[in-house]
Amino acid sequence: MALITCPECGARISDQAENCPHCGLPRPAERLAIINAEREKRQATAGDLLSGIPMWAKIPAALAAVVASIVIIVGVVMGYYACRDTRSSRSYAESYEEAEDSKKLTAKLGAFEVVKKNLKSPSSSRLVDQDLLETSGDSYLYRVEVDSQNSFGAQVRSTWLVCLSVKSDSPDRYHWNDQVGALEVSRNGPTPEEIKTFKELNGWK
Ligand SMILES: [Zn+2]
Repeated sequence: MALITCPECGARISDQAENCPHCGLPRPAERLAIINAEREKRQATAGDLLSGIPMWAKIPAALAAVVASIVIIVGVVMGYYACRDTRSSRSYAESYEEAEDSKKLTAKLGAFEVVKKNLKSPSSSRLVDQDLLETSGDSYLYRVEVDSQNSFGAQVRSTWLVCLSVKSDSPDRYHWNDQVGALEVSRNGPTPEEIKTFKELNGWK
């Protein structure tokens, strides 16, 4: 006689019992055998998904998987280097252009800032127009037209000549605080004489 677990109530009972003494299940040993057999059959089915494939089919399949993996890895690596190369050569040109742009932008913003410093009411000022007249090395000559309040609070338009030098401390950082000059010129100016005088005053070369 051996002890089994009743499949209905889980009690430990004799495998000889006609009925489970706890829950009354008829022929519990027989029921348990059927349940175990069914469970084994289900597990075997799951295992057969792989084991069912014949050996002659398994080897080419495994080989194909390895070859496919290698092809994918090589493709990814080659793609990475191809992208990196074009990107780095493009970004070199781009960074040069960007640097030139940020240098010009620094000059442009700087010219307006210089004019603002010469106004009675910088906070009221508004940029109307700005032209780059000339460049010489790192120096920029701008014509700047602004609206701003005079000492009576009236909004007045004025025209300025500004020269400033733009230098960089590092590849992408520029500042314009070198050799700054500003001169208010005639309303529709500057005239050629005004430009000539201004250049002389600021040592423009
Ligand atoms: Zn039972």
